[in-house]
Amino acid sequence: QTLPAFFAAMAARQGEHEALVSRHQRLRYSYAGLHRAARQLASALLGLGLRKGDRVGIWSHNNAEWVLMQLATAQVGLILVNINPAYRTAEVEYALNKVACTALVTMPRFKSSDYLGMLRELGPAKLPHLRHIVWIDTPADRDEPAPLLRFSELMARGRADDERIDAIAATLQAGEAINIQFTSGTTGFPKGATLTHRNILNNGFFIGEAMKLAPADRLCVPVPLYHCFGMVLGNLACFTHGATIVYPNDAFDALSVLETVQAERCTGLHGVPTMFIAELDHPRFREFDLATLRTGIMAGSPCPIEVMKRVVSDMHMEQVTIAYGMTETSPVSCQSSTDTPLAKRVSTVGQVQPHLEVRIADPETGATVATGATGELCTRGYSVMLGYWGDEEKTREAIDGDGWMHTGDLATMDDEGYVNIVGRIKDMVIRGGENIYPREIEEFLYRMPQVQDVQVVGVPDRKYGEELCAWIIVKPGQSLTEEAVRGFCQGQIAHYKVPRHIRFVEAFPMTVTGKIQKFRIREAMKSELG
Ligand code: ATP
Ligand code: MG
Repeated sequence: QTLPAFFAAMAARQGEHEALVSRHQRLRYSYAGLHRAARQLASALLGLGLRKGDRVGIWSHNNAEWVLMQLATAQVGLILVNINPAYRTAEVEYALNKVACTALVTMPRFKSSDYLGMLRELGPAKLPHLRHIVWIDTPADRDEPAPLLRFSELMARGRADDERIDAIAATLQAGEAINIQFTSGTTGFPKGATLTHRNILNNGFFIGEAMKLAPADRLCVPVPLYHCFGMVLGNLACFTHGATIVYPNDAFDALSVLETVQAERCTGLHGVPTMFIAELDHPRFREFDLATLRTGIMAGSPCPIEVMKRVVSDMHMEQVTIAYGMTETSPVSCQSSTDTPLAKRVSTVGQVQPHLEVRIADPETGATVATGATGELCTRGYSVMLGYWGDEEKTREAIDGDGWMHTGDLATMDDEGYVNIVGRIKDMVIRGGENIYPREIEEFLYRMPQVQDVQVVGVPDRKYGEELCAWIIVKPGQSLTEEAVRGFCQGQIAHYKVPRHIRFVEAFPMTVTGKIQKFRIREAMKSELG
């Protein structure tokens, strides 16, 4: 089935039931209302001369317009291109040109970022494909000079009953592209994964199933929409189950999440581990009543077990689930369900999603390894992307001839099929011939009561090839010394796993999805150590 066909049926069934709450915009949409608005926008997009297969970018933080664009573009076969709001001129130029976007919807500005200013700076010479720039306005906004178009004005041009929409919808196929998402850029330059209706609609459905979502559920989504975490695990998991999605704010802040969960009586909350840590450690955490919470997904990067335990006990999320995936696989391939025993939920990323295959392969030979052994996680099934847009070579490197997506992640699988992510192949440290998984050292150092967060990477070393380096963020009001950290390791972990270099820092280099960019830590250490 296609996304528009599915959503039309859901809208007919759910009618006036709330589909979307955008708290910071004070906007609320019912299923029927959202469907009508999406059709009106789709009609307006056709009015701009956009045609099936054209790429349309969205460069914005979370808001209702984002969802409308997701639903509207799908209605008429346009390919939505998610653009990270943290991108600056060079990155947005790369992204828009890479996929030849003909139209772009953007926020005019956000805090100190001037999006329209950046587009003006690039100008038509550097953005040769771009014909339309639409800016998300509020009634108080001043007019912008032509050829820029207000979002409200664009909307006003469309008609929800435009018959052209139904004519196009009838020709759409589930295997056609509807979305291009750039990977996070955790390990290097972002790649544009091309995803189909079948990819993301099914993945959203099975994610909602694992969380046991029902129409009464209200899911708070502070994770960004431009990333599959917000768009699929948030929007599509909700919409495929008739539930309500709630955006606490345009960009993440812990306080608005806590306020929103209480005010909107949310039953679910998504986040990457660093978001949950920020919420739990917020000085006003105890003031909020979070008793309505039941479930949610923690994903995107490894979750320290201690954090998981606090999410269950202090945030009442007894049914929190862990998910593992990547942009290229729409994204989830493994997930725990609300029924997974807690011990398994805190220690693994769950089992393979229905209708998908996962195997752990020897990175050198490609052979499936023995149960329990470490290898590269490979996955196959409906969720695997069409490919990287405009990059056949990278696509061939990622998806082999038998359809297996090679994730670049190291994992193990136990005899019950529970998968454990050990780290990324690129992050594995080889010190004097010993394979070291930084994750293990991070988990260990995290047990020090003064440690708020810790990252471990390998840095070049003349004698051992590589040495371990730990970057530590100390909890506010606490102090820690290198000797104390080494003392803590003494006799507890093997000598070669004790970090040789220890640095205390205020923050880690991060992507806007909240992922820590270890390659930047490695680069910083390389230039420091010379
Ligand atoms: P890039 O591919 O550009 O370097 P990225 O891989 O971080 O960036 P995403 O597709 O957003 O881009 O993230 C997918 C990756 O996130 C996975 O390959 C895996 O390394 C990591 N990941 C996702 N979920 C989990 C999880 N639950 N536990 C551990 N790691 C996870
Ligand atoms: Mg990746």
